[in-house]
Amino acid sequence: MAFEELLEDPVIQKYLHELVGPTGMPVAAAPPDGEVTDEELAEELGMELNDVRRALFILYENDLASYRRLRDEDSGWLTYLWTFEYENIPERLEEEMHRLLDALTEREDYERNNEFYLCEQDSIRFEFGEAMEFGFQCPNCGAELNSMSNERLVDAMEHRIAELREELRVPEEAEA
Ligand SMILES: [Zn+2]
Repeated sequence: MAFEELLEDPVIQKYLHELVGPTGMPVAAAPPDGEVTDEELAEELGMELNDVRRALFILYENDLASYRRLRDEDSGWLTYLWTFEYENIPERLEEEMHRLLDALTEREDYERNNEFYLCEQDSIRFEFGEAMEFGFQCPNCGAELNSMSNERLVDAMEHRIAELREELRVPEEAEA
């Protein structure tokens, strides 16, 4: 798939944005064909060299860019020639989604298997055990702690988990 096509995908845009942040996004969103130096990118994008380098290094750490070093024989200066490896994006993205699915599944278990109490004054949530220890009174403001349903949160998580499973073709877990 061509890089341009990849970059039109909003999921991929979001993924890159989360990796490099808003400052690094111009670098991540404009992968050149072939090699480029950090100085060339900084000039082309009108960015600080340090910001360009930070973004390139994040891409490098995530296997989305590589570099080779050239030493100028006269000056001894090192030049870094960068290549964007965006053909790795789909694989990296899938790994991220598996990680998210694991985290969500674990979180959903926790939400399902616990009862929660709320201080409506402070919008602080307590687990049942904590609430009991505090005598069902908020330790912060003294208000009564009320039993709180997390059904909507669990539903939303369940929905997102189902979506991810479908996208990743992970079969539904057998219910015990
Ligand atoms: Zn309170």
